[in-house]
Amino acid sequence: SELLDQTPVDVIKQLMRHGIMVSVNQVIDHQVATVAAAAYGVRTRLAESNAETAPITADSTAQIDAQLQPRPPVITILGHVDHGKTSLLDYIRESSVVQKEAGGITQHIGAYQVELDGQPITFLDTPGHAAFTAIRSRGARVTDIAVLVVAADDGIMPQTDEAISHARAAEVPIVVAINKMDLPGAQPEVIKRQLSERNLLVEEWGGDIIAVPVSAQTGDGVGDLLENLTVLAEVMELKADPTRPAAGVVVEATLDRRRGPTATVLIQSGTLRVGNQIVVGGAWGRVRAITNERGESMDCITPGSPGVVTGLNSTPEAGDILQVVSDERTARQTAERHGRRSHTGNLDTVLTLDNVVKQIDSGDVKELIVVLKADVQGSVEAIVQSIEKLSEGEVKARVIHSGSGSVSDSDIQLASASDGIVLAFNVGFEIGAERTADRLGVEVRSYQIIYRLLEDIEQALKGMLEPEY
Ligand code: GDP
Repeated sequence: SELLDQTPVDVIKQLMRHGIMVSVNQVIDHQVATVAAAAYGVRTRLAESNAETAPITADSTAQIDAQLQPRPPVITILGHVDHGKTSLLDYIRESSVVQKEAGGITQHIGAYQVELDGQPITFLDTPGHAAFTAIRSRGARVTDIAVLVVAADDGIMPQTDEAISHARAAEVPIVVAINKMDLPGAQPEVIKRQLSERNLLVEEWGGDIIAVPVSAQTGDGVGDLLENLTVLAEVMELKADPTRPAAGVVVEATLDRRRGPTATVLIQSGTLRVGNQIVVGGAWGRVRAITNERGESMDCITPGSPGVVTGLNSTPEAGDILQVVSDERTARQTAERHGRRSHTGNLDTVLTLDNVVKQIDSGDVKELIVVLKADVQGSVEAIVQSIEKLSEGEVKARVIHSGSGSVSDSDIQLASASDGIVLAFNVGFEIGAERTADRLGVEVRSYQIIYRLLEDIEQALKGMLEPEY
């Protein structure tokens, strides 16, 4: 994407149009790269396989495969407010962090690692699906497993449903932690039934969803949860090549009074070392120091692991991609290109129903992705069913999330990350959500009459929508 002067998201979308599903730092072969580059009028040439900067060729892919090594899973905790996400993250951190140093103070850096029987597991500790999807909408895929926390005394709530939609849209497997089992009102069977109503069938009921009863307060069951996570991670065979120049994603970044710009990065492939020349979004520099959450210095960060990096010339943003480059000039130029791009904006990526129609016409899009919000549950269900009925033709509409209530920030983030639109039936916006929609270029279409809404979708699917002025 750097060579094409396009955002990683745009290149990923381009590949998706050709039916190739990839994440931001996945290795693609020369043939695939040629297809993507052609869309931007750029021709590719196979380079001699030559050190770091050589494009990856079909031949070298085989060689790279041979160097893949297991890496720790990266886990995000999602769920409704007050169901215990923070408590669970805190309990796991306090109980499992390797040998707590006397007086060693842990800092919140946005990610941490624990060990279970010598196996490392990485947790992102910015709970909540908005943060999860904000990173994803920038093209990076960081989470391997989503832990869905549901309070056993409260059941599935609106944000639990949102979290399920976000995890599904990201195609991340869900493990359920049925929390607050210590409370007398805990009803795990009710939770399991509610999960089954959402097509999440737990193992003991014949499904494949792992659900573990826990208490983030007493710690009961948390060991069991961690064990399940390591087993699942093993089955997923998560691997990365630690010998390549590093690539990763910013989880959190701040301007530290003493140390200057600091960024918590999660390395996804390769190994990041002190002294490496790096570009991180619009920032660049040489890695001056790497520390962990206890403030201890580290020599390097390997795939699947987090660390705090200093030495950048400015503060990057969460979701920015980190890359190691060969020299300072490349670092500076790449960062400047990125800066120019975000400055001019990228308005042609705005996805409206109107240009979905155009893309359907040109065969680029075969599916209209919809996030639906309506005033009452009755209208939600009626509209979802009608949309499904309309989708029996070649072009389909898929409702990836629906619910009653105002359009929220999370709805916008989800639509943005999934290249979808938001339909609002008799509802307005939550505070700030309209601005997010403008910023991310997400179209929100409002309706007061159901048949109007359905008419538009039907027209869109037939590729005949009259543009709105
Ligand atoms: P979050 O909003 O999902 O991060 O939820 P918190 O972790 O902040 O927890 C919300 C409240 O529930 C706090 O008062 C916690 O002490 C309490 N809580 C969390 N987990 C448990 C649990 O397992 N048992 C009980 N009894 N209370 C819990």
